[in-house]
Parts: sequence; structure tokens; C-alpha cells
Amino acid sequence: MQETLIKTDKLIPLSGLSKRQIAKIIKEDLGWESFRTEQIHNWIYVKSSNNISEWTDLSLDKRQLLAEKVKIPLLKTAVREISKKDKTEKYLFELEDGQLIEAVLMSFEDRDNLTACISSQVGCAIGCPFCATGKLGFKRNLSSSEIIDQVMNIQRIKNCKIDNLVFMGQGEPLHNFQNLLTAISTLRDSVGIGARHITVSTSGLIPQIKELGKTKIPLNLAVSLHSANQAVREKLVPIAKQYNLFHLMLALKEYFENTNRRITFEYTLLKDINDSEEAARALGDLVRDLPFPCLINLIPYNSTGGEFRRPDREVVQRFKTIVERSGRKVTVRVTLGSDISAACGQLANKFNAQ
Ligand code: SF4
Repeated sequence: MQETLIKTDKLIPLSGLSKRQIAKIIKEDLGWESFRTEQIHNWIYVKSSNNISEWTDLSLDKRQLLAEKVKIPLLKTAVREISKKDKTEKYLFELEDGQLIEAVLMSFEDRDNLTACISSQVGCAIGCPFCATGKLGFKRNLSSSEIIDQVMNIQRIKNCKIDNLVFMGQGEPLHNFQNLLTAISTLRDSVGIGARHITVSTSGLIPQIKELGKTKIPLNLAVSLHSANQAVREKLVPIAKQYNLFHLMLALKEYFENTNRRITFEYTLLKDINDSEEAARALGDLVRDLPFPCLINLIPYNSTGGEFRRPDREVVQRFKTIVERSGRKVTVRVTLGSDISAACGQLANKFNAQ
């Protein structure tokens, strides 16, 4: 499938491109010598500059021509919120067509590296009822350049280097499969974030999980499980009606065989919905004998003001203890940025509602 770049005017988008894509523009649109590719690639990715006037290894004439012909970056930072409780930063980016997407920058006390959570789509078609993004509905896929530009914008604004990336912002990344793969390739080769430091989170799209495995790219795969009971899962993750738990586990086995990467199961704990001791035992039973390594990450719900609630701390601890009896590693995700609408879709919803 051919990737399409968003072109709303005659300017050529120069952000978020691979070296090969930049080379094509240098040759076909500008008619310049091929060594200019390396220079421009350097300014964008090594020096993190989107200010063409400071690209001083190009002549003034060339810089002026470039400024008339290309645009960089593709995203405008509409809002940047910084948590007073921790160092979490939430970004709301405006795309060229006025759509809004979110990204979050997280740092953890016990680690000195930075993790960014980025979006793959505007809105999401899966429609999980507890998710703020699900309420936005699906608007469109992001281009690979728009995916990469989120990372570059954060690095530029914060003057930092992002170490880890998680595709857990707006959207189902595997519904935007080709652009995701193109973006990951440039993130590895140009931005310098290795596949082992990239996590793709999916609601469980079986055909795409298999395809992703076949690429043999050693990505981390996180699957939003949310229940080990098929009927409950169908209510929480509507796509589960199409892709049931049994077949999902077979696809994950295949993914592991292809990539040798451990699978993470994300389990959002919702009060009185999927947080009972029976639900914990069902989850333990499901993961105990799986023929691949896995980690269970429990996520006490970050309330978005709807009908769903966060379970009490004791309930979360009890749930964890029961699942741990399966012999699998279980973690509880720390809540970051609780004062800055850092749950997926919350910030975009806030602004869309205005
Ligand atoms: S939880 Fe993920 S898959 Fe479900 S609606 Fe939200 S963004 Fe989409």
C-alpha cells in the first residue's frame, strides 16, 4: 500500500520523512545534488531543527527556496500541560486539517529515561465504552509523518531525547497498519528509537497481529485484554465479538514464535465490572498455561467522568495477589498526570467540547 502524505496546499511536507523520502524530494522536486539529503536529514533529526533559516550549510538562496517550497513541521502545539504532581507532560497537537491529537511524555522516579505515548489515528473506531477516545469516534488515520512529528515536536519543545515509545494514545495502531510500519522504520533509522523500545498496543486485531509478527520486527506488543471472560470482554472491547479469546491467544503464540518478544496484557480495572476475585481467578487461569512469556499490567481506571469507576486500592492489591498465583509477573501501572487529563482522549475531548 502506498503511504499518502497530507497535502492541503502546494507546499511539500518535509517533516517526519525517511532519508529515502527526503532524497526523492531533493532530486525530483528541487533538482539538487544528492549530498543535500544528508544535510537536511541531519538538521531535522540530529539537530532537531525546524527553522530553515538556521540550516547554514545551505546557501541563503537555497534556504529561501526551501522556505517557499516546503513546510515543517506538520503539527502545531495547541496545548502543553505539565503536571504539578509529577513530571508528566500532555500535548495537544493540531493537524493541518484542524483535527486534534494527543501525546503524553512520562518520566518515572526509578528510571532516568523518558517515555512518550503517541497517537496513531484521530479518534478510534473500536469504541471501548470506558475510553474517552472511543467517544470521539473514528475521524482518520495519521500519516507516518504525523506519527513521527509528535516525537520530534516533543523532543524539540522539551529539548530532550525520547528513549521509549508507546502507541497507546488515540487510535488502534493496527488499524493504521502500513503507516505504522513506515513510521516505525523511520523512528528506528532516523530518530534512533530501536524496535525493542517501541510498544504497540492493540485491542486484539488478529489478522494484523499475525502480519506484524511476520515482519519479525522485535517490537513489544501490548494487548488490551480487560477481561478473561469472553462475554465481559465483548462489552468492554467490542472488536472481541469478531476476534475471540481462544483465537487471540493462538495469534499471540504465533507472534511470539516470530519475534521472540514477551507479550504484555493490559487489564484496566473497572469497579464492579471486571475487578472481582472471580475475574482475577479467571485471568490467572487464562495466563497460567499460555505457551509464551507474558506480563500482566493492571491499570486502575483513570476516571473520565462517565459511568465507570476506579476500584479501591485494596481491591487492586487483592486482584494482583490472586493473578500472581498463576506464576506470571503482574504489575500495577502508576497513575501519572492525574491533574492534567492525561488519560487517553481526555484532553482532545475537553477541547472538542468547547
Ligand atoms: S481503548 Fe484504545 S482501542 Fe479502545 S476505543 Fe480507546 S483508543 Fe480505541
